[in-house]
Amino acid sequence: MNRVHSLEKLRAGEVFDLLVIGGGATGLGVAVDAAARGYTVALLERGDFASGTSSRSTKLVHGGVRYLRQGDLTLVRTALRERGLLARNAPHLVHTLDFIIPAYGLTDRTFYGLGLKLYDTLAGPLSLGSSRILGRHETLEHLLNIEPSGLRGGVLYRDAQFDDARLAITLALTANDHDAVLLNHAEVLDFTREDGRITGVLVRDRIGGGDLSVRARFVINATGVYVDALRALEDPAAAPRVSVSQGAHLVLPRRFLPGASALMVPKTDDGRVLFAIPWRDRVLVGTTDTARPAPEAEPRALAEECAFLLSHARRYLSETPSAGDVLSVFAGQRPLVRGKAGAETKSLSRDHSISIGPGGLLTVAGGKWTTYRAIAEEIVDLAAKITGLPPKPCPTAGLPLRASTPILPGSEPLHRQLPYFEAEVRRAAREEAAQTVEDVLSRRTRCLLLNARAASACAPRVAAILAEELGHEDAWIAAQTAAFQTLAADYLYPVD
Ligand SMILES: Cc1cc2nc3c(=O)[nH]c(=O)nc-3n(C[C@H](O)[C@H](O)[C@H](O)COP(=O)(O)OP(=O)(O)OC[C@H]3O[C@@H](n4cnc5c(N)ncnc54)[C@H](O)[C@@H]3O)c2cc1C
Repeated sequence: MNRVHSLEKLRAGEVFDLLVIGGGATGLGVAVDAAARGYTVALLERGDFASGTSSRSTKLVHGGVRYLRQGDLTLVRTALRERGLLARNAPHLVHTLDFIIPAYGLTDRTFYGLGLKLYDTLAGPLSLGSSRILGRHETLEHLLNIEPSGLRGGVLYRDAQFDDARLAITLALTANDHDAVLLNHAEVLDFTREDGRITGVLVRDRIGGGDLSVRARFVINATGVYVDALRALEDPAAAPRVSVSQGAHLVLPRRFLPGASALMVPKTDDGRVLFAIPWRDRVLVGTTDTARPAPEAEPRALAEECAFLLSHARRYLSETPSAGDVLSVFAGQRPLVRGKAGAETKSLSRDHSISIGPGGLLTVAGGKWTTYRAIAEEIVDLAAKITGLPPKPCPTAGLPLRASTPILPGSEPLHRQLPYFEAEVRRAAREEAAQTVEDVLSRRTRCLLLNARAASACAPRVAAILAEELGHEDAWIAAQTAAFQTLAADYLYPVD
């Protein structure tokens, strides 16, 4: 995937069958689906692929045990099916993980044990393995650092885990392999119209500068928490449809959750679900659900969110973490489809909704990473029908997603506390359309999430390699290094 080639193709003046705005899970899923069916498709992303919510998730491919509690069986069943399909189609990025719910109360094991039997049943033939009740001893064996006092046992169930930004890049590469034209750092500024109908978009190239216009038969707004901004460009009178809710995560050293299993707390003080999950030799603790007044491109974990997560981690872990142990904090924003005025964000729907505006713009809002493929299938079916494109069956349920090319051995490590090599920076620039130090350290590799200080220390070297690969001068290296180090400071545990 080469950004210069994509730009040339977009400038050639082709009228695409479909044009997708937004390169997160939803937009990339649509690009893969449409391209694999044989439609022509372009995708434009304002920042980098997955720079919005799609690189800031809890990284679970799951049915959603919490939705089971809310009685949303249709969402759980769809998500469990999608979990199974993704595990088949991207085995290099998705793996199963045992989750343990520790039982401290008298009835916890029976209550959660029965609920998880229903979870197993809903997964049907794509089940990843059965749940089971654990005794105290077995629970302690799985969760070596769990608080033992008052522990009666636990319930084990299976779900799956992935690397969200790497899956996004994989989807972009897969779509590119099927001749989709994808451009990151390309912001849609406005629509072009004929007789009130949207015929394309006006785009700003945020790397090379300059504007271009791209034409399409059908335009899809997959901009996550920003969908209302695009809808307002289509129709200034359009009422807002999404609320913004933020979720934060802490990243801790692995010693706070040794062993192969994750910890799931089904009900925190304020009724949320909390996870502590082994991920890339670290532990992710999350998440929160905090209503925010407006979307932010670079949301910051709030001090109170971090304090909430740390205090719960301390309650359930025997060797307790403190703020000084936190390697990184990150936050992402959920676009929740609006409920009644005043409804709490944690009660709003995680399911997606699709609407068509007066100019013909399709807007998709809400959803989960886990269900991106099913959402994309629904959108492309609908788009083809509305546009009168020849109907073509959706192949993505059985479409293997492409793996990155392996790096050659012998490359220098980026940092002794990070599991990445300089060759991965070069590959990111040559094959994965990485343009900035942030693209490399946040999403092509996950350095920023794994250790914000170490990532900051790598920035000058990464900038120098990128400058070599992409042909930039010394001033660019200095500016990129400074910009990344400012960003990385926001990934440190906040001090009052
Ligand atoms: C804290 C948290 C944890 C989560 N954990 C999980 C989980 O474990 N498992 C799971 O299945 N789901 C999870 N989710 C949900 C999942 O992450 C989201 O549903 C999914 O990432 C949304 O993808 P999206 O493509 O709709 O939005 P986004 O990823 O936000 O993508 C929208 C894109 O549109 C771009 N854009 C905006 N305006 C423009 C414009 N004018 N021009 C061009 N581009 C534009 C943005 O830059 C952005 O990249 C979680 C969500 C949150 C917030």
